[in-house]
Amino acid sequence: MLAELNPAQREAVLCLHGPLLVLAGAGTGKTRVVTYRIAHLIKQGVPPAAILGVTFTNKAAREMQQRARTLVGRAGEQPEISTFHSLCVRILRRQIHHLGYPPSFAIYDRADQQSLAREVLREIKCPQAMLTPEALTSMIGRWKSLGITPQQAAARAVEDRQHAASAAYARYQRAMKLAGAVDFDDLLLLVVELFATRPEVRRCEAARYYHILVDEYQDTNPLQYQIVRALAAEHRNLCVVGDDDQSIYAFRGAEVTHILRFTQDWPEARVVRLEQNYRSTQAILDLANRLIVHNRRRHPKTLRAVRSAGVAPRLRVFESGEQEAAAVVSEMAARIFSRSAQPCDFAVLFRTNEQPRLFEQQLRRQRLPYVVVGAQSFFDRKEVRDVTAYLRVLVNPRDETALRRIISVPPRGIGARTLEALSDRAVAARQPLWEVLQAYAAQEGGEAAREAVRSFCDLIVRYRQRVQQQPPTAVVVELLSELRYEQHLERLYPQPLERQARWNSVQELIEALAAYEQQAERPSLAAIVDELALQQRDFQPNQGCESSANAVVLMTLHSAKGLEFPIVYMVGMEEGLLPHRHAVHAEGTAIDEERRLCYVGITRAQNELLLTMARTRPRGGKAVRTQPSRFLLELGFYVPMDDVEAENPSRHPGHAARPARRGTP
Ligand code: ATP
Ligand code: MG
Repeated sequence: MLAELNPAQREAVLCLHGPLLVLAGAGTGKTRVVTYRIAHLIKQGVPPAAILGVTFTNKAAREMQQRARTLVGRAGEQPEISTFHSLCVRILRRQIHHLGYPPSFAIYDRADQQSLAREVLREIKCPQAMLTPEALTSMIGRWKSLGITPQQAAARAVEDRQHAASAAYARYQRAMKLAGAVDFDDLLLLVVELFATRPEVRRCEAARYYHILVDEYQDTNPLQYQIVRALAAEHRNLCVVGDDDQSIYAFRGAEVTHILRFTQDWPEARVVRLEQNYRSTQAILDLANRLIVHNRRRHPKTLRAVRSAGVAPRLRVFESGEQEAAAVVSEMAARIFSRSAQPCDFAVLFRTNEQPRLFEQQLRRQRLPYVVVGAQSFFDRKEVRDVTAYLRVLVNPRDETALRRIISVPPRGIGARTLEALSDRAVAARQPLWEVLQAYAAQEGGEAAREAVRSFCDLIVRYRQRVQQQPPTAVVVELLSELRYEQHLERLYPQPLERQARWNSVQELIEALAAYEQQAERPSLAAIVDELALQQRDFQPNQGCESSANAVVLMTLHSAKGLEFPIVYMVGMEEGLLPHRHAVHAEGTAIDEERRLCYVGITRAQNELLLTMARTRPRGGKAVRTQPSRFLLELGFYVPMDDVEAENPSRHPGHAARPARRGTP
């Protein structure tokens, strides 16, 4: 195993005790170091369960798990490998009762948060014109990330809107607690709160692990930073790896200073630098190096390729976004049909979520398999949300957003007025809606509404018992058939194609559940529901050819971090897209972060890199001229600007340009 590492990597893997920082550029094998280190620790006799690996992507997590498995066998104890959010879920499942929440708490995603926010604003009779649910949830998110309580928010409020928002915040938190629910911001926040107020809980959680390894450390936010410190404080066996040039989550509160001051926090830390890039050709790295020197505050490093020079990266300029998408996809199609490449060799990287649509259309037209990563579209589908809501209620019937969602899906005779009356009763009595429903059902009387509530409560109670005894996926399949959910979709969507597509997503969800159930040690519906909630946030489908899906990957630059692809297309290289228009108009270091994002994109490419831009994009129904991205100029590309001039040969779409010689940036 050690033979597969270079001397610097080996040093990092072999150093078994104390804090360790690996600060190195893209593709130099940082993630490999983490993976091999975990394997090596296990080989040296460290109990796998005492090892905690925190990774950013499921792909890295899977790789680490596989390596560990080959060492300890499938049956043995496994190291704990997860993202920050799932780590926090596990800690809270064990400890949240100290904070007055039930251990079976539900996790609310953005859509749930918004429907709760809407409910709360209705209760305090706040008009939409003053505060929308979206605005409220983002204010609450900001308060939470700064550790501001509803009381503090109220004390600081000046304008009416702020008063309304802080009142809504207080109600929101109360409703969340009543529903036994937390949101994503709470996950980290509650762990920090728990560790700060309950030293014995912190010690108990810290004592579970004897080694902690964190990948992509440059993107930790202050809460994550505190959690890592709290867990490693005693044993100090903390290995972090990262690259300050790839810090791209400042907008979510990540602070690159955490990695830069690691040696101050942990004075005895050993620092290892990795110099050789194993991923990309030298031509690609030259481009990356040329770009990143434009950032001022950074640790200087230059990427050197182990591989040969390779094919020079190209720029192609198109007349419109449609032409850009059509040309990129036909190029891919030609190579796939001639068998010189397969679909999963290609990744199309873009900056904003609006960009993939045109590419998806073209891919469908050419019948090429593809996956869109990070677009959340799967989890936003109505039918997927319906079924997920059923699962959530089976785990925790106090989960009010989920309960409201399913109570009339499919329709079962519980009218809007009955529901309204019952929820007012719940708010007044400060009781969970579920309890109010049950009490209502238990009372005498055979009117239609009561009968309907009775049979609903009975259904939930029955299936709650069953999922505790039987494999969850099978129970869910039966539940859907008892609900006649497929027939429900047929009524909603008379159009056969659409109906089929809807039912297919339900099947896809069930397959995902089954797959999860097979690989989990102790499959429970609760664990599955957690997994689903977390996936919505950091959704990474199975990437690469190892998975059954041999598909072209469409993903945002943010979600491409840590991954690699033989052929990368970076599309939409225009001012306003990359750099994003928010950054163009912002002050400070926003452009530097966009540049790092561009750097992340370039360094994903192993063999070939193609950058593209469109000369026009539609805005307000008209095609508007674009400006080439400033990064293209920094990269030294000559961008043919004006194709209106007849003599300019570049007017033909798809004119290829190569980087100009180094020198004048
Ligand atoms: P990023 O900064 O993008 O996260 P990284 O530093 O984590 O990159 P890895 O993903 O670990 O880099 O490695 C990049 C590629 O180089 C991988 O395909 C990895 O398997 C390969 N690699 C790393 N080290 C070696 C080595 N010593 N010998 C051969 N291949 C290596
Ligand atoms: Mg990595």
